[in-house]
Amino acid sequence: MYDILIIGGGPAGVSAALTAHSRGRTPLVLSNPIESNPLARAERVSNYPGMPDVTGQTMLEVMTAQLDVAGIERVESKVVQIMALGDRFLCAAGSEVYEGKALILAMGHMPQRGLPGEQTYLGRGLSYCATCDGMLYRQKTVAVLGFGAEAPEEAAFLAGIGCKVLYFGRGPKPDRWDDAMEYHQAARYTIQGDGSRVTGLEADGSLYAVEGVFLLRDSVVADSLLPGLEMHDGHIGVDAAMATSVPGVFAAGDCVGKPYQVAKAAGEGNIAALSADRWLTASTEGV
Ligand SMILES: Cc1cc2nc3c(=O)[nH]c(=O)nc-3n(C[C@H](O)[C@H](O)[C@H](O)COP(=O)(O)OP(=O)(O)OC[C@H]3O[C@@H](n4cnc5c(N)ncnc54)[C@H](O)[C@@H]3O)c2cc1C
Repeated sequence: MYDILIIGGGPAGVSAALTAHSRGRTPLVLSNPIESNPLARAERVSNYPGMPDVTGQTMLEVMTAQLDVAGIERVESKVVQIMALGDRFLCAAGSEVYEGKALILAMGHMPQRGLPGEQTYLGRGLSYCATCDGMLYRQKTVAVLGFGAEAPEEAAFLAGIGCKVLYFGRGPKPDRWDDAMEYHQAARYTIQGDGSRVTGLEADGSLYAVEGVFLLRDSVVADSLLPGLEMHDGHIGVDAAMATSVPGVFAAGDCVGKPYQVAKAAGEGNIAALSADRWLTASTEGV
């Protein structure tokens, strides 16, 4: 059981973790690898104090190293589901579940809207994680919507355990490719079902009969990740203390709104961690 689970290891998440640690809390940072962070593509960042003219990749490496030096635990994994259980939160990432008393969402820019059918069929044939749910679909035909950096690998895992995989990508066939999979390209998707289970995938007007759909993005629409989270214009709604509509859940950085800037993300991460610390003191220690 950690004091604070932090989802996202960009500037907001790192700043939140350092502050939480300095307040004597045990944070755990759960994040995709640095390479999948959009900031890693920045050729030059020149407006962040103390790190003049660095590439985005270097900036992220320096920040991550600071976590390691401080002894802050981090796990490279994508969180696919969060459950609020009253006095604690469970985060499912890969095949593991992590438990924390408070939560900070620092997931960066998120998909604005889900696909048609996504909310209806999540957990009913639609999954965000091949490793977690793949075994349920052995010997069955599944569609993989490969929108994230790890998607080809996750799809190959499904093929390897005996799923017939129809892979849908947005560009040329990925380099890492398992020839057992069928490759398709499309721009518009609808998840089809009979109201209770997925029955197919519509891609640019063509219908494919499948029993499961794996929607593999680097991030998950925030209100699918944590039901009940209030959103405003595609961003997580927060107050001045970075508190969301769910008690014990705070948010910071690009996921709460513009300007999309490193300095703003780091500042908000700091506020979110101080607020989470105060919330833990008040709620779990009865002060
Ligand atoms: C090309 C480019 C150039 C830029 N240049 C500048 C600049 O010069 N100056 C400046 O101030 N800003 C710049 N920015 C903006 C800056 O990158 C962002 O404002 C900043 O990174 C936001 O920090 P964050 O921590 O909120 O989110 P991010 O840095 O995006 O970090 C979020 C992390 O969380 C991960 N994540 C998301 N969902 C999940 C999940 N479900 N499970 C696990 N991990 C998850 C993401 O993969 C990512 O690694 C640039 C951005 C880009 C794309």
